[in-house]
Amino acid sequence: MKLSSGNPIRYILLLAVPLLLLAALFFLLPAREPVPELVIEVAEEPPELDEFGFELGVYQVDSGVVAPRQTLSHVLARFEMGPAEVDAIAGRMQEVFNPRRIRAGQPYYGYYDAEDPASLRYFVYEISLLEYLKIGFSDTLEVLRGQKEMQTRQRTANGIITSSLWNVLRDHNLHPELAIRMSEVLAWEVDFYRIQHGDRFKVVYREDFTGDRSAGVSGIDAIFFIHQGREILGFHFEQDTISGFFNPLGDNLRKVFLKAPLEFGRISSRYSTSRLHPILNERRPHYGTDYAAPHGTPILAVGDGVVTQTSYTSGNGNFVRIRHNSVYETQYLHMSRFGNGIRPGVRVSQGQVIGYVGSTGLATGPHVCFRFWKNGQQVDHLREEFPSADPLPEIHMEAFGEKRDSLMRILNTIAFRDALPI
Ligand SMILES: [Zn+2]
Repeated sequence: MKLSSGNPIRYILLLAVPLLLLAALFFLLPAREPVPELVIEVAEEPPELDEFGFELGVYQVDSGVVAPRQTLSHVLARFEMGPAEVDAIAGRMQEVFNPRRIRAGQPYYGYYDAEDPASLRYFVYEISLLEYLKIGFSDTLEVLRGQKEMQTRQRTANGIITSSLWNVLRDHNLHPELAIRMSEVLAWEVDFYRIQHGDRFKVVYREDFTGDRSAGVSGIDAIFFIHQGREILGFHFEQDTISGFFNPLGDNLRKVFLKAPLEFGRISSRYSTSRLHPILNERRPHYGTDYAAPHGTPILAVGDGVVTQTSYTSGNGNFVRIRHNSVYETQYLHMSRFGNGIRPGVRVSQGQVIGYVGSTGLATGPHVCFRFWKNGQQVDHLREEFPSADPLPEIHMEAFGEKRDSLMRILNTIAFRDALPI
């Protein structure tokens, strides 16, 4: 067929059909970035940087660690700097960091030009795992206090306890902070003083890193613990004002203390670091809260626990001390007498009568001096902010269920690596 010979309609159709098809394709295909731009982006890969932001391969790095009793001038002597240069650097450094606070054991680095190994470009001192000091030697001295980028990684761990949680973590090269976090979460469910040979755990947690170095455990997501054959499961959940650990049904792993060790009674003296003592007539700290009540009023254990002391001293009079868990202890002073069967080693439950109000020891009148200990330190229990121990409200159950199930899947992938202890 000769196109140029006279059949114009056929000629137009032959051209129009492919054009229409092209137009249709143009409208049907989703809009795209022009291809050349993509190519350019791929070509511009960012250079790899070290933890202080220096491009890898550009410098030759010489590093050391501050020795005991070394000062800034000792450290800089390694880089062949004399007193005048040290003075200038110390002066500029003062704006962001006190040079006298250079500490033994902290690493430092000299960055030399890779092309010209005699020329020092930067000096870096690590203030902490997260912060560093950078001094640049160009025409002028540049001083900068920088922060390393931190990455949070979700990790898992497991173990079977033979002596203590601490030892298991150490044996597996896990961060010791994990033991503290775990004991806080499980304080109400697991008696860490009576941890048993064969107790075991799986845990999903978050750990912060700068490069490959750990900056600590930042939180626990899920925990599975078998204590004396009893299984405990807890999942972290945070939304609105709620933050805590809940079992699979949404019950809180925490429990509450009674607000006071007496059903009735009034606060006659509060916790104070400097109080005029009513009998000794001098200022001294009062690490307790006094509740005045008639002689013989029952004194109640504010929470479940084990009695650790029933004693008499000239100051405290008759007193009872209770350990509630690995975090909290309480003490009740000036009792007229102890409750029935109350002696060291006995388990008591919340609200149980452990003694009666009196004025034994240094007391002007009948009252109970209530003392509250947290991690071995006396604290004002009225000021302690105890997280809520309420179960999860119904409106959060769906979101909690999703989080619980995804964490449960992770827990299920963890296999105990230890052999069962004999
Ligand atoms: Zn008191």
